Amino acid sequence: GCVMELDKMDENDWKYHGEGNKSLVVSHSQHSHVLRLLKYPAGNAEHPPQTTEQAFRDIQNIVDFNKNIMKPLLGERYVHHGEAVKLPLDFVRQLSLKVQPERPESRCDKVMDTFSGCALCLPNLTQMPSCHISQHRPPLCIEIKPKCGFLPFSRHVSKEIKHKVCRFCMHQHFKLANGEWKRMSRYCPLDLFSGNKQRMCFAIKHLLQEPQNNFKIFKNGELIYSCKEDVDLNGLAQHLKPYFHPGNGLMNGHQPGKAAMNELIQVICSALLSSGDSNRAGEPRKGLPLEGRGHCEANGLYRDMLRNGNHYLPKDCVLSKILQVQMLDSLDIEGLYPLYKRVEQYLEEFPKERGRLQIDGPYNENFLEKIQNCPSEDDGSIDYAIGKVHQYRVAMTAKDCSVMITLAPCEEDELLEPNLETQPSKRRFTYSVSILDLDPKPYENILQQHKRDAKIVNYYLRSQQEAA
Ligand code: ATP
Ligand code: ZN
Ligand code: MG
Ligand code: MG
Repeated sequence: GCVMELDKMDENDWKYHGEGNKSLVVSHSQHSHVLRLLKYPAGNAEHPPQTTEQAFRDIQNIVDFNKNIMKPLLGERYVHHGEAVKLPLDFVRQLSLKVQPERPESRCDKVMDTFSGCALCLPNLTQMPSCHISQHRPPLCIEIKPKCGFLPFSRHVSKEIKHKVCRFCMHQHFKLANGEWKRMSRYCPLDLFSGNKQRMCFAIKHLLQEPQNNFKIFKNGELIYSCKEDVDLNGLAQHLKPYFHPGNGLMNGHQPGKAAMNELIQVICSALLSSGDSNRAGEPRKGLPLEGRGHCEANGLYRDMLRNGNHYLPKDCVLSKILQVQMLDSLDIEGLYPLYKRVEQYLEEFPKERGRLQIDGPYNENFLEKIQNCPSEDDGSIDYAIGKVHQYRVAMTAKDCSVMITLAPCEEDELLEPNLETQPSKRRFTYSVSILDLDPKPYENILQQHKRDAKIVNYYLRSQQEAA
């Protein structure tokens, strides 16, 4: 639970930690907690967007969704559902003023909710909860927003290109054209989710080279590497050296910075393939080989694997869990959209059914059951349609989540154990893997998703034609 004394909140104990499109996060300077406050469009600043009761219900809905839906689907050990809290309004207003100068300009189209006082209290995942903290080498935390790791296998897909190039890679072209990013990311989620170490390391290397909003590194809870700073790999290498080359062992070679970077990549890869923390060893299978790089075209074998619900990742690793939930989007937006329309039509006729169908929650066992027991064939029913709609929304959440890998260096004397020297990058850290940012995606988003999908695919096809 949340350890704070809610009546004794002092903004001086808190500092800006980060933000996304939907929420702003502050961290406590002593204890290992963060507060996540929702944001809304700046245009509405004069009016609270909703009542306090509604704001609290929204936060509670997020907690319930994490606890009752995402936790069972993704695994108990990866998800921390947090707690809804009601903060003093004075505190929230002071906090908002305090963090404003720290906020990136690109995020200031939205403002923090200072009206409801409602927030989500979560463990600070950039810190290691129970570990001896070395001043010299405080914990590192790597955050990866992996995005969708499979190609649609649905027969409803109308454009062949969607079976060949993944959504992320197509979207890159669109984002570059819109000026959202200046440089193309070479990261491909299919590499990360391939289960093949070589391809995974490739993916992580590309994230390092062009982090955009898919990659961050924290040291001692402070952001040290992200898209914000001008990508400074040398600066990062300096941070990393004490973790990978304590003293000046023989391994230093000519480019200690580069070596440290490669070891970081290896450690991230191992953590992603493990079963969640360093005490449980993962058993990586042989993944999909590195072939046909430069684009993410998949071979037929890979497609068949996915169709059968298989993939090449170790069963319990974080990426496997995420991928399985992402694949609940089995029809693709093109196949889902008609079912969404079926639901819409049904609601028009029977508006009171909105509650029973749990369109806006509550996110309880009943909702989970609708997801897990959805009929596999369309029998024309509303139950089938709503089951698929709910599955799709949960998959959307899994396509948008982040993985946090927290690494704490082992005690120096442990490093001297002889068997560890043979695998230098493997056992130097205790690590812990979690998943965050698991908000429910609004039902209404499905309409936008449908439009956006067409836009991205059409843009990609056109840009390929022009290039040819
Ligand atoms: P998005 O735009 O990706 O949907 P969001 O607005 O939903 O983002 P989050 O991703 O939950 O917000 O939080 C924003 C950032 O704050 C995260 O990327 C992460 O760096 C940091 N953060 C969030 N929760 C935690 C936590 N429990 N511990 C540490 N850092 C956190
Ligand atoms: Zn791709
Ligand atoms: Mg996020
Ligand atoms: Mg989010």
